[in-house]
Amino acid sequence: MDCIFCEIIKGNIPSTKVYEDEFVTAFNDLNPQMPVHVLIVPKKHIASAYDIEESDAELIGRVFLAAKAIAAKLGLENGFRIINNCGEDAGQTVKHLHFHMLAGKTMGEKII
Ligand code: AMP
Ligand code: ZN
Repeated sequence: MDCIFCEIIKGNIPSTKVYEDEFVTAFNDLNPQMPVHVLIVPKKHIASAYDIEESDAELIGRVFLAAKAIAAKLGLENGFRIINNCGEDAGQTVKHLHFHMLAGKTMGEKII
């Protein structure tokens, strides 16, 4: 299996890590869309939100606990946005479940 995020998690591809625990790792997006653009990635390879299983429920909760820890670490007191792109229509390009954490300036109009 050829998964760029699995390789980052294993340390085989370099990344700028901002947070790591037993369940997730988080690193700066290579092509940031905001002053703060962190990808929060479960260490377990799950291809997309379509592929989350019942047994992953705690893991997904851990993603949001990581977001809270990252917000504290980076001093994000003005808010942040978390986005998951799932599948073709949403434009998912990396087939390893990940959550974009965006912050650092007032964001434009919301989609929803
Ligand atoms: P998505 O379009 O939701 O699948 O998001 C994939 C994200 O991964 C994009 O924002 C890319 O900029 C980012 N990305 C791809 N390769 C790397 C990498 N090696 N290190 C950090 N971010 C990456
Ligand atoms: Zn993977």
